[in-house]
Amino acid sequence: MFTSKLPEVGTTIFTRMSQLAAQTGALNLSQGFPDFDGPQALRDAVGRHIAAGHNQYAAMTGLPALREQIAAKIARSYGRQVNVDSEITVTPGATQAIFCAIQTLIHAGDEVVVFDPSYDSYDPAVQLAGGRCVHVPLALPDFAIDWQRLSDALSPRTRLIIINSPHNPSGALISAADLDRLAALIRDRNIYLLSDEVYEHLVFDGVRHASVLAHDELYQRAFVVSSFGKTYHVTGWKTGYVVAPPALTAELRKVHQFVSFCGVTPLQWALADFMGEQPQHVDELPAFYQAKRDLFCDLLADSRFTFTRTAGTYFQLADYSAIRPDLDDVAMAEWLTREHGVATIPVSVFYQQAPKDLRLVRLCFAKREETLRQAAEKLSAV
Ligand code: PMP
Ligand code: GLN
Repeated sequence: MFTSKLPEVGTTIFTRMSQLAAQTGALNLSQGFPDFDGPQALRDAVGRHIAAGHNQYAAMTGLPALREQIAAKIARSYGRQVNVDSEITVTPGATQAIFCAIQTLIHAGDEVVVFDPSYDSYDPAVQLAGGRCVHVPLALPDFAIDWQRLSDALSPRTRLIIINSPHNPSGALISAADLDRLAALIRDRNIYLLSDEVYEHLVFDGVRHASVLAHDELYQRAFVVSSFGKTYHVTGWKTGYVVAPPALTAELRKVHQFVSFCGVTPLQWALADFMGEQPQHVDELPAFYQAKRDLFCDLLADSRFTFTRTAGTYFQLADYSAIRPDLDDVAMAEWLTREHGVATIPVSVFYQQAPKDLRLVRLCFAKREETLRQAAEKLSAV
């Protein structure tokens, strides 16, 4: 008999809620993905490149043309010139990038600080590396970093801190001042940073994303991860990338080459073409998703859910205390799906230990107007 390396891990909440939505015919606002397609020109480009014979292994580090486009975008968005060859690695999805960064840094017995609620792949990846996560809760109601708790959580064994801004599930943002404070806190310690910025272009109300790529000091010890899935409405393409200084990148590639070797070739060609042809796509995303957020929130204004408009991501949290305070959020998500035809994600699953009175569900608004209208109608009747 073997011993499980991940005894506490089951099927993820995203799979479970999407399955329940499919079984019950509910509108699926649970797992984060658009119910509309990515740009036609981008999709056409994949077919073109497959027909043109771009079907064998890509470079292990990523297609050069795509790495060039990524570097150009980073220069435009964050003012950093990264080296195309030694600082950018294309991966089959951000999840793989995160996994590889963690395997690169974490030795048995090392500690990794994660902020709860946190994305579900971090902790298992740390466990598989033989490390241990120290879960530091974000301060409610704004999901802000509690600096005292962070400072208390650091130990001589702390090797890595994982941050995620814009934050899944809350949409909260880390500010440039927060990054300065973080830099000061780890300046004299041997601690690295993994910055999960997959929602980097989904920031609303005119706010600018504070990227670690724009922070000279933190970048020197950081892996910065992004995902084309979010930016180009193609989550199923599972294509992302990681940017890090040359020494860290070299070490990361040792892992990446044995986890997957490379990303999918025709997808990388298509993304490179599209980024070159339509660099403005990323600048148009905030308005595109903000309109969806505002439509959805306006439609929910008279419902019994309470919420503050999300600052980033394509997720909106909603408090249901006024509706079914008797139900915990997992039960509430199931009840909403079965009885009211809308699938959501309970927020407690993003915690090691959720606050007992947490009454929040997460709604994905990366949906067509028609879907948002139907969902809001059902939710307003609850
Ligand atoms: N990090 C966060 C915070 C996410 O929400 C997601 C999307 N599921 C990922 C990483 C993974 O992105 P990808 O689908 O490119 O692996
Ligand atoms: N990132 C997506 C979410 O938060 C889910 C991705 C997945 O299913 N693993 O909903």
